[in-house]
Amino acid sequence: MSEPRAYVEINLKAIASNIAHFKAISDAQIMAVVKADAYGHGLLEVARTAIESGASWLGTALLEEALLLRSAGITTPVLAWLTPPGDDFDAALHQSIDLSVSSLAILEEVLAAGERTGITPRIHIEVDTGMTRGGFLEEWDSFLVRLREVKGSLHIVGFWTHFARADEPDSDFTDQQMILFNVLLNALQSEAIYPEIVHAANSAASLAHSGSHKQMIRLGIAMYGLSPDVTTMGSSADLGLIPAMSIKAKLVNVKRVPALSRVGYGGTGVTDRDTQLGIVCMGYSDGLPRRADSTAGVSYNGELARLIGRVSMDQCVVDLGADSTALAGEYVTVIGEDGFSADDWASAAGTINYEITTRIATRLPRIYLR
Ligand SMILES: *Cc1c(COP(=O)(O)O)cnc(C)c1O
Repeated sequence: MSEPRAYVEINLKAIASNIAHFKAISDAQIMAVVKADAYGHGLLEVARTAIESGASWLGTALLEEALLLRSAGITTPVLAWLTPPGDDFDAALHQSIDLSVSSLAILEEVLAAGERTGITPRIHIEVDTGMTRGGFLEEWDSFLVRLREVKGSLHIVGFWTHFARADEPDSDFTDQQMILFNVLLNALQSEAIYPEIVHAANSAASLAHSGSHKQMIRLGIAMYGLSPDVTTMGSSADLGLIPAMSIKAKLVNVKRVPALSRVGYGGTGVTDRDTQLGIVCMGYSDGLPRRADSTAGVSYNGELARLIGRVSMDQCVVDLGADSTALAGEYVTVIGEDGFSADDWASAAGTINYEITTRIATRLPRIYLR
């Protein structure tokens, strides 16, 4: 293949190092969360690296994502937690995928699949302790009643919840969620049900709430080397994490323009001096946020060149400066150590680093550094 006009470089050594960081600070098992194509980093490559680096579980949102792991021959335990009624639970059981049970309707479908296939479902019971999203809340009591009747037909592997505000060090909300979580766990244990793996912590809680680690931590953003929240928890570097994703794109053209040239749709960008503009082969269809302002951009040999004007569908324009030696056909760094970070792009667009990496389009090839 010819050189790609833009590509994503994934440093798998960074992922290994980030996992090692958590193995050093926690005795809990590690679940590598690989939903959304591993936050845009590539499902299978990340999953394999995580397993080699000591993760003993994989976590996905969708059942389809878990099935992809199995079709690739990955046999590590996998939990899929976003499985609406009507999903192919038979396939999940055939492929030894653990299922989250978060409502009575899902419980019944999982039980029916167990009967049809003759395979005992492996389930993780999800409780809603304050996020007010997934998990048992108002159905909890009727769930316990139903569980008494059917527990012999289930392998209850896990018991779990999810934190809403673990990235706010000043809030006691996570402690309150843990208190309720333990109350609900006690209720389950009074039914003589003892899940082997109790889990609650996401990246933020893994870093900031060691009391929540229990038997397993579920690592997403931090495994990719990014901070759960730069303003409240510090940067990747502050946290001892190495970002795994960088992005390079080619300049399709470099042109000299006078001061006061209006750039892009709507003419919103205006040059403030005679300068050179770089036309970069990456736009919002590739996942760059259209609303990013000039606090983000690219770098060329470590020199920052800021966005000017609106990001277009397949391209964007940066101000290289009058003296830049950048040439058409050369690569610039869109995200990378020597330029802007996913956090810079996030703050330039009023969003979070999670949204930046997960939206990088699959039409950009991923290149893996081992
Ligand atoms: C996405 C997700 C995680 C990982 O969250 P991070 O903040 O990226 O660490 C953990 N658990 C569940 C249920 C999730 O949906």
